Amino acid sequence: MATMSERPGPVVVVGASLAGLRAVEGVRRAGFKGELVLVGAEEHLPYNRPPLSKDLLTGMVEHNALGLCTEEHLADLGVTLRLGTPATGLDLGAREVVLDGARLPFGSLLVTTGSRPAALPHGGAPPRGVHLLRTVDDALALRDDLSRARDVVVVGAGFVGAEVASSAAELGARVTVVEAAPAPLARALGPTIGEVCGRLHGLHGVTLRCGAGVAALEGTPAVTSVRLTDGTRLPADVVVVGIGVRPDTDWLEGSGLDLSDGVVCDETLNAGHPGIWAAGDVATWTNPLYGRRMRLQAWTAASGRPLRRRATLSPTPRNPARSSRTSGPTSTASGWPRSACRARRTNRTWSGTSKACASSPCIPTATGSAWSSPWTDRI
Ligand SMILES: Cc1cc2nc3c(=O)[nH]c(=O)nc-3n(C[C@H](O)[C@H](O)[C@H](O)COP(=O)(O)OP(=O)(O)OC[C@H]3O[C@@H](n4cnc5c(N)ncnc54)[C@H](O)[C@@H]3O)c2cc1C
Repeated sequence: MATMSERPGPVVVVGASLAGLRAVEGVRRAGFKGELVLVGAEEHLPYNRPPLSKDLLTGMVEHNALGLCTEEHLADLGVTLRLGTPATGLDLGAREVVLDGARLPFGSLLVTTGSRPAALPHGGAPPRGVHLLRTVDDALALRDDLSRARDVVVVGAGFVGAEVASSAAELGARVTVVEAAPAPLARALGPTIGEVCGRLHGLHGVTLRCGAGVAALEGTPAVTSVRLTDGTRLPADVVVVGIGVRPDTDWLEGSGLDLSDGVVCDETLNAGHPGIWAAGDVATWTNPLYGRRMRLQAWTAASGRPLRRRATLSPTPRNPARSSRTSGPTSTASGWPRSACRARRTNRTWSGTSKACASSPCIPTATGSAWSSPWTDRI
């Protein structure tokens, strides 16, 4: 099996976050002694994103507690850091990454550029007070606005939207969530479990507008309301758009890599060319456990284990897993949870398991698809 470190020439990792950090650590652990470069668009050292929608927003942690490593750690590993330097292109023929005004030759390349949030269509720049959430800078700007907000509208009730709504309610704002699907988190966890999550939101004072669409963000220069497609106007000092993410592959357009849904990789995370790999949120790879391609946007998928197995880039065939904290309890989903379409309560846990049904592409329960959340007798 090919490894990242066996080709001559530098190893270049583009994307200095969780997957990129675990990759440089793994490459050194595998015994690679050559030049190792970590390129990142953000000015920050790798940091943890899950608290951005939860404890950082509510002030339970500060941004300087989110770091995944120190500069000394990377210096000890002999990693050359190029932070604040977005890659703008890839020249596969010359085996060079194009940076702003420079070219970086490589023997092996690992793409770990993650994903970026989708914006609502809006003619020109959106009004002030409208936020997307991906980076620590996004989260700090949002936290600042939330500290003065009375009415918050969250568009999209996926994981990030649901978590932000929960945090904003905790901070004392009146929160309305607008979601096109019939229940929050329905796309990820199925409608039944989505309904349970919806009831949890209700218990914490969050108003849900499911089956609703956004027609316009109103107000200038700052947002004042969100107009829905049925004509309803929701007052808003702050709007958070959490309608999904797309893989951050713009810089790879025209490079020759297959970008049909992120960087398309095989079971070993190879991107179809010798010495070119991808990992983390940006990679679509074939998970042999399911016999299908998947692009997982979860911490566990981007973290060390997939990159460490036999010091290669080969991911361990394993169930995807993700935890989330929404209006109180922390819930855990494992497996390919969009198939979890049945919810039940046992002892002190709500759980959802996969079951053949007509409405969603189910995976057999044998794969361990499940969702669980601490029990509360009020939902
Ligand atoms: C608000 C929020 C809450 C989350 N909560 C959870 C949770 O509770 N549980 C969970 O499992 N997962 C959660 N996630 C998802 C988890 O954080 C991601 O799965 C994980 O960060 C993916 O790591 P990654 O390294 O693949 O990509 P990212 O963390 O997205 O990092 C990609 C890096 O690449 C950089 N980059 C992009 N383009 C370029 C370029 N052209 N050149 C150089 N650098 C570039 C980016 O700036 C970024 O730093 C959450 C994510 C967010 C945003």
